[in-house]
Amino acid sequence: MKITKVDVSVTSEPKRHPVRDAIQWLDRDGQVRVQIHTDAGVTGASSTYFGREQSSPMILATLIEQQLTPALIGDDPVLIRGIRAKLRRLTDYQGTAGLSTIGISAIDQALWDLQGKALGVPVWQLLGAQRMTIPTYAMVGWLELDVAGLERVSARAMEQGFRGVKVKVGGGPLSEDLQRVAAVRRVIGDDADLMVDANQAFDYAEALRRGRAYDDLGCRWLEEPLPADDTLGHIRLAEKLDLQIATGENRYGQQAFRDLIAGGGVGVVQPDLRRAGGVTDCHEIGLLAAGFNVSYASHGGGAHIHVLAALPNTIYVESGLLPDNSPITLTDGCYPLPDQPGLSGWND
Ligand SMILES: [Mg+2]
Repeated sequence: MKITKVDVSVTSEPKRHPVRDAIQWLDRDGQVRVQIHTDAGVTGASSTYFGREQSSPMILATLIEQQLTPALIGDDPVLIRGIRAKLRRLTDYQGTAGLSTIGISAIDQALWDLQGKALGVPVWQLLGAQRMTIPTYAMVGWLELDVAGLERVSARAMEQGFRGVKVKVGGGPLSEDLQRVAAVRRVIGDDADLMVDANQAFDYAEALRRGRAYDDLGCRWLEEPLPADDTLGHIRLAEKLDLQIATGENRYGQQAFRDLIAGGGVGVVQPDLRRAGGVTDCHEIGLLAAGFNVSYASHGGGAHIHVLAALPNTIYVESGLLPDNSPITLTDGCYPLPDQPGLSGWND
């Protein structure tokens, strides 16, 4: 089988209901869709999402079309790691992290989708699954919501059967965080998981001060307390806090996780399928983490559920609230695995 053609398409529009975290408004819905065609008639597709910056989808599409695609034509699509190695060499001069890796990830996901479709099985079967359902929590506590709004979405998440909720923190003083977290705790009860996410907003001293306060409220983890690339900061923070540190959504490639995991700087590793490099890198990161007894929870959901099915250390798939017309319901706080061939997900 040979790759014959790669199609790339772009959409970008304002988000109908913008949301805010500690460092940004997420105000756009952008998508770059990649379709890889073969001489066998089998195709594989992926979709890469952008939550802000109008120009980002078009820049990524240009990178994929003009730089990555010419290197793929004629290749055997089953050589997924071989293609990854070639694309990393190709992009090395400009810096493989950042948009280059997001482009390589888009190709990687389309190749896995193609492989699943060629064999007629979902990708979690190719990776070697450990479980048939994935525990989930709902990321509902955006900062533009007032306390009443937080209480409403948290109650909705529990009605829908999620095991817990996550709320954003760090948008104001600690006293405001504590008021918001305490309100959510009253709604979800003592036994549900409650996570807090600072989106890289703090320096070391503030992360330590606030982390101790969140721990006192019974939070499950503190997410992105520090700038994402501050490996030593995370290691030092983890030594001081009992509360688990979760991070990883803004790291690029498997190698970017090695020292963080080996140094004990993360208790729950959270790769993002786009930025980490796709199914291949996320699976490798998960296995690396498993070797150090570090838990794995995806950043976002969608196609990531295939990786989560195949890791021994999976604890959670991240989700938003289920839409009113959701095709699935949660059972025991878990998503079922998709059964269609390829890399389809539930909650893209
Ligand atoms: Mg986060």
